[in-house]
Amino acid sequence: MSKWVKIEVPDDFDNEFILSHDREMPVWNPEDTYVNVLDHGYIGLVDFMGDDEAIVRSARVSYGKGTKKVQSDRNLIRYLLNNYHMTPIEACEFTFHVKAPIFVFRQLMRHRNGVFNEYSARYSEMSDDFYIPNPEHMLPQSPDNKQGRTDEVLSDTNYKACWTAIEQVFEDSYMTYKHLLGTTEGDKATALPDILEQRKKFLEEAAMQGLLKMQKTAKNRGEELEITDDMISEKIADYMEQQGFATVSDDFTGIAKELARIVLPVSVYSQLYWKCDLLSLFNFIHLRADPHAQYEIRVYAEAILEMIRPIVPWAIEAFEDYWMNATSLSAMETTIVEKLISKALTGTDKSILKDDIIKDMKELGCSKREIDDFCKKFSI
Ligand SMILES: Cc1cc2nc3c(=O)[nH]c(=O)nc-3n(C[C@H](O)[C@H](O)[C@H](O)COP(=O)(O)OP(=O)(O)OC[C@H]3O[C@@H](n4cnc5c(N)ncnc54)[C@H](O)[C@@H]3O)c2cc1C
Repeated sequence: MSKWVKIEVPDDFDNEFILSHDREMPVWNPEDTYVNVLDHGYIGLVDFMGDDEAIVRSARVSYGKGTKKVQSDRNLIRYLLNNYHMTPIEACEFTFHVKAPIFVFRQLMRHRNGVFNEYSARYSEMSDDFYIPNPEHMLPQSPDNKQGRTDEVLSDTNYKACWTAIEQVFEDSYMTYKHLLGTTEGDKATALPDILEQRKKFLEEAAMQGLLKMQKTAKNRGEELEITDDMISEKIADYMEQQGFATVSDDFTGIAKELARIVLPVSVYSQLYWKCDLLSLFNFIHLRADPHAQYEIRVYAEAILEMIRPIVPWAIEAFEDYWMNATSLSAMETTIVEKLISKALTGTDKSILKDDIIKDMKELGCSKREIDDFCKKFSI
């Protein structure tokens, strides 16, 4: 017969009786959680299940509820994160509504444990919101980090030039998108995108130049060549044919949205709902709020951390202490550190150093167990 398996927790958790829900809980209103991110993006917490108490309850499933004091609940959560007892952390679930550029969503969706439902560009028209980095973030390639940028801000002129080039692409691509959709404005089809209009004008001018040249040659031969509208139309049609250029007919009603969207760049904004448990969120925040992550996703990760902090403050505190701001050592690095400590201790009174370490660790808020573990790890 199967049995509940109890996670081994230290005895010092069983102290005074205080219901953990006596702790002041934040009032959550989904609309108040929305924050703006990047130039047109946002993120909001539209739903959640569970809080610090749910983590504690899951960990203590076989102890029964409400028999631990507040301080010990906090310590239990710290113990879980410090010792990789991660499933209780999954007791909390969050659903976010995110608006971000598609290139950010490509990175976000690499996080496989999330559940995503995205705005359908097959079903609905895309908006004309595109991401353009502001001057502090339009930066040159880093020479030593192939995936990163430097912090050398561009000159005003170069920033404006980059902005203009990017903005031109957005305008052309969005106009082309609307043109391909066959969108009508009033009873008129959307104008030809600027970039095609320019190419068409260029071909018309080239056709006209060709005709004038023919007229001049005829004149040199003493002949009269009258250029008629039909000749102009025929010549333009010839040129367009030769250059592989065509414009749609008057009765064109467009192509499907799922096809027209292929001209939109990855900087176009989309929206999605993202459901994720707390453990996966911690993994996401650890990787994407890190300075190595791209700025444009980092700002979403940082926003999430602050958004959920009022719901799971103890879990976040523990996550920051034992995961996000912690450093792990490889076996080789551990050997070196042990060697360094042993060298430093040569000729020193070990107990004095140990007392110092205990004092420092206590001041940093470490429990007795953490201090003992540390001393054991490095044979102090
Ligand atoms: C700075 C940075 C640069 C990156 N550069 C690139 C790049 O150049 N190219 C590229 O392709 N990707 C890149 N990535 C993406 C990266 O390789 C991961 O795919 C992404 O960060 C998701 O991480 P994850 O697998 O831990 O997250 P999740 O998919 O959310 O998984 C969370 C955790 O669940 C567990 N898990 C999930 N699925 C499984 C499974 N099937 N089996 C076992 N365990 C599982 C693992 O413990 C995992 O860590 C980059 C990521 C970062 C942060």
